[in-house]
Amino acid sequence: MGDKMWGSEPFWGMGYEWDPEWVYTERQKELRAKLIDLCEKELRANSKRFDDELMFPRQNLEILGEHGFLALTVPEEYGGLGESHVAYSMVCETIARYGCASTAMCYVMHIGAVNAILLRATPALVDRYIRPLAAGKTIGTLSYSDPETGSHFWYPVSSGADRTENAYKVRKKASWTTSAGFADFYVVQTTSPEFSGYDDLSVFVIDGEHVQAQPSLWDALGLRGNQSGPLEVPGVEVPTTQLVGPEGDGAASNDESVDPWFLVGSSSVWNGLALGAIDIAKRHTTKKKHVDVGLRVADYPTIQDYVGEALMDTNACRLFVLSVAQAMDGVTDDNTKVLAPGEFARADFLHWAWQIKFEAAKNVAHVVDKMLHACGGSGYKRDMELERYLRDAKAGWVMGPTNEVLRQFVGKAVLLGFDSLDYWNQAYNRRAVENEVKKLDAKGKRELAEQLVSQASADELKESAGKG
Ligand SMILES: Cc1cc2nc3c(=O)[nH]c(=O)nc-3n(C[C@H](O)[C@H](O)[C@H](O)COP(=O)(O)OP(=O)(O)OC[C@H]3O[C@@H](n4cnc5c(N)ncnc54)[C@H](O)[C@@H]3O)c2cc1C
Repeated sequence: MGDKMWGSEPFWGMGYEWDPEWVYTERQKELRAKLIDLCEKELRANSKRFDDELMFPRQNLEILGEHGFLALTVPEEYGGLGESHVAYSMVCETIARYGCASTAMCYVMHIGAVNAILLRATPALVDRYIRPLAAGKTIGTLSYSDPETGSHFWYPVSSGADRTENAYKVRKKASWTTSAGFADFYVVQTTSPEFSGYDDLSVFVIDGEHVQAQPSLWDALGLRGNQSGPLEVPGVEVPTTQLVGPEGDGAASNDESVDPWFLVGSSSVWNGLALGAIDIAKRHTTKKKHVDVGLRVADYPTIQDYVGEALMDTNACRLFVLSVAQAMDGVTDDNTKVLAPGEFARADFLHWAWQIKFEAAKNVAHVVDKMLHACGGSGYKRDMELERYLRDAKAGWVMGPTNEVLRQFVGKAVLLGFDSLDYWNQAYNRRAVENEVKKLDAKGKRELAEQLVSQASADELKESAGKG
């Protein structure tokens, strides 16, 4: 690999000597060079307009599509590039670093939707949604977060699916959906037709014409092009062929596909934004001079310390992501293994994927602040682009799974075991209940007991009516 180029000039930020070259195959390096070229020619310039005008980055996504990137992880037999988790990380990082963060996030959700379908590919799903990706014009997304449960996106209270003759009637309310109103297909999760509790979830793919979105409601600090507005699937009848996997496959689909791909992709976007902010700081601080002392801003040791620490922390996050991506490649034979329902591979690394997202989102929030400090007031102005990177980067911490939730997942699992996580609020916390009951006097205990006995009777009646 020669010098990193930006059009016909050497790249103005950090060169390949600061990229983990030993991790990528030659083909992946060629894909990266192609992406940098596309960013220089169009993607980066467009990102300003998408940000200013709250515009969906369709133009950028179609440029990526022309070069096969919308089918990056699709097997070659279906017309895709047949690439791996490591390649996916590289692509997400590269688009965010050199091009457009909104495009990168829409891309993450697109590949997330594509891989959720591929996990349970059927001839009908492949013909309708996967093969057309090679033409580079169709875009998918994931619609999970529910207005009633906030960032607990695995808990779709405002949803349901009923079986009808040869079809399903699907309803879903989503509070946030990247590409809402612009995507061609939506992978959604609902409770199952014979709902037996919130771990009983099913996955459907819904065509764009059947969803109701309100793009005009989207206006946010950053990632302004990604159009993550509310969405509704209003009791739409879909053929049984659009059920992805068996009924009740939702939790497995989350653990084996949606979460691993989302966490690798979004962590890579945060790392790309951190690197992009350092690139901008390099460009600015090596040019700006203070005539009184005859020094450039980059000559001050304080500024060198900022940049040195930012790059080392970011490269630690990057290599962490790539290492987990390599582990996922290892267990899936470079993303070629077909898994039957009940078989897991990537899911065994989910607790590692939580950690990469926490670290990458935490790091980028800090790095963009420090690069702003390094660039001074000039960095605060819009023409330098740093402020857009700063605003885009702040989405990392709050996107679900949020960093508050992730650090609690990890800490709780370390201390109390994985079962204690209780995603669907099913485990009875006897310790907490007994502690609260201790606080009641005899009258309070009697009232509680009577309330419980009457609830138990009502539940028994419901259960026996259900059996009959
Ligand atoms: C730019 C962007 C794009 C998005 N795109 C998509 C998308 O494509 N598809 C999709 O499904 N969703 C998407 N989301 C939604 C996202 O995943 C979250 O659901 C959303 O950000 C949660 O916001 P909220 O206001 O409901 O947070 P809340 O859930 O109300 O959280 C508020 C605070 O409470 C904390 N908190 C929540 N639960 C706990 C807990 N158990 N323990 C401790 N603290 C807790 C949170 O960490 C946060 O600090 C997107 C969000 C953003 C910002």
